[in-house]
Amino acid sequence: MSNEIWWRLGFFFSILVIMMLLESRMPARKSPIKSNTRWFANFGLVFASSLIARLSVPIGLTAVALYNQEHGIGLFNQIATPSIVAIILSMLLLDILIYWQHRLFHNVPILWRLHRVHHADAHVDTSTGLRFHPIEIVLSILIKLIAVTTLGVPAIAVLIFEIALNGLALFNHANIRLPQAIEKPLRLILMTQILHRIHHSQRVSETNSNYGFSVIWWDKLFGSYKNEAQKADNDIDIGLKEYPSQKQNASLWGLLIMPFKNK
Ligand SMILES: [Zn+2]
Repeated sequence: MSNEIWWRLGFFFSILVIMMLLESRMPARKSPIKSNTRWFANFGLVFASSLIARLSVPIGLTAVALYNQEHGIGLFNQIATPSIVAIILSMLLLDILIYWQHRLFHNVPILWRLHRVHHADAHVDTSTGLRFHPIEIVLSILIKLIAVTTLGVPAIAVLIFEIALNGLALFNHANIRLPQAIEKPLRLILMTQILHRIHHSQRVSETNSNYGFSVIWWDKLFGSYKNEAQKADNDIDIGLKEYPSQKQNASLWGLLIMPFKNK
C-alpha cells in the first residue's frame, strides 16, 4: 500500500501513452477542433481538478479504507467475510454506484450543469475521459468515501477499482475503432469505444444511454443499453448542440465557468 501512488501513476501514464499512440496511428474520427487546442483545455482541466480535489479532500480513499479496516468500521469489517468475497462484492457494488452516479448527473439539472462540461467536447478522445469539472470530481470522491466507509471496502479493492475505472475511462474514450474480430466479443462484456461514442451523441436519447464506464452489465440490467446509434459510428454528431462554439469548448477558463453560465 505504501507504493500506491506509483501503481496508480504507472498504470495511468502507461494506458494514456498507449491510447494516444493508437489514436495517432489509427484514429477512428477526425477532430473538428485542432488537437493541441483541445488537449491544452482538457489536460489543463485534469490538472486543475486534481489540485482542487487534493485541497478540498486531502485524504485518500485507500487511506480511509485502511483506517476503517483497522477500526472495524463498515459492513465487510463488521461481519466475517472471506477477503476475496469482500473484494469482488465491493468492486461490483462500487461499479453499480458509479453507474447510478453517472445516470444521476445526466438527469438532475444542477448536476447536468457540471457533467455537460464533459459532454460539450466536440470530439471524443482519451483526453475527454479525463475532462471533468473539479466540482464533479469532488462530489464523486465524497460519494465514494461514503460508500467505502459504509461498506467497509477493503483497501486493496479500492486501489484495484480506482486503477481499473481510470484505465477503462481512458480506454473507452480513445478515438480508435478496434478491429471487428476484437470489438465484437469484447462488447459482450466491456463498454467499447464504439458503444461509448453513442453516449457522446448529440441526440438526447443516445446521450442518455450506455452510462457504464466499465462493463455493460448495469446498462443491460437497468435498461439503458444501446448497441447502435441512429447514425453510423463515423457520422454521429458528437458533443452538445448548445456548445458549437470552439472558443468556449476548448479553453480552460471556458470549461471552468461553463456550469455557472446559462445555455
Ligand atoms: Zn455522461
